[in-house]
Amino acid sequence: VPALSVRDLRKTYDGGPNKAGVQALKGVSLDVAPGDFFALLGPNGAGKSTLIGIVSSLVNLSAGSVSIFGIDLARQRDAAMRMIGLVPQELNFNMFEKPLDILVNYAGFYGVPREEAIRRAEVELKRAHLWEKATMMSRTLSGGMKRRLMIARAMMTQPRLLILDEPTAGVDIEIRRGMWKTLKEINAAGTTIILTTHYLEEAESLCRNLAIIDRGRIVEQGPMKALLAKL
Ligand code: ADP
Ligand code: ADP
Repeated sequence: VPALSVRDLRKTYDGGPNKAGVQALKGVSLDVAPGDFFALLGPNGAGKSTLIGIVSSLVNLSAGSVSIFGIDLARQRDAAMRMIGLVPQELNFNMFEKPLDILVNYAGFYGVPREEAIRRAEVELKRAHLWEKATMMSRTLSGGMKRRLMIARAMMTQPRLLILDEPTAGVDIEIRRGMWKTLKEINAAGTTIILTTHYLEEAESLCRNLAIIDRGRIVEQGPMKALLAKL
């Protein structure tokens, strides 16, 4: 079964009492294979965040269907959500906690026993090149380290699908490269990754397959190599 399957997804945001609604998605269908590193590429306002929001249950869909590893989101929301790790754009961890505690507490919230959480935290901190900083105050980490900490935290529940909405928006190329390295390792270890981006370069250096979205419609979809050949 696909890691993600989206069928004829539509979303209209309410425009208010006297205004027409905004059609953010106008019938989007896509499949992401297990193990893939998949980019959803498109300009601002194309509908990327809306699509990611629906898949991660933050936004209600107007019509269509979503299934995650074969689990229908509308029918089995909790089970579907357990498959997903989400990396939000904003840094939303407590700057006055240590990376190790942030990770262990996060896993604890999802019911992971403490011993197991500590074991996982070591793996994730190493993969994010943060192990040396495990017991430093998070406030003192560099910008790149803080971003990688967000990725490490999302992996603590061992999601089969990791979703990132413009993870590198507004950060410089050095920081982006550090994040890419961590993401490549996570994908190589078997986790399916979907990210949205408006940088072609980012999609190109990371992803095997991509979809290009524009004004609420998928305009191209396929292997990165085939699409690059067309451009
Ligand atoms: P992207 O992530 O590609 O920049 P979005 O999904 O954020 O695109 O937005 C798609 C369209 O939906 C845009 O026209 C945007 O203005 C509109 N939109 C997004 N969120 C809302 C909202 N909460 N209410 C109304 N319109 C919205
Ligand atoms: P930054 O804020 O630029 O990411 P870091 O202190 O985290 O700063 O990076 C320091 C060094 O660690 C750099 O040489 C960088 O190339 C390397 N590095 C960054 N991310 C990773 C990673 N995921 N895996 C291995 N090395 C990394």
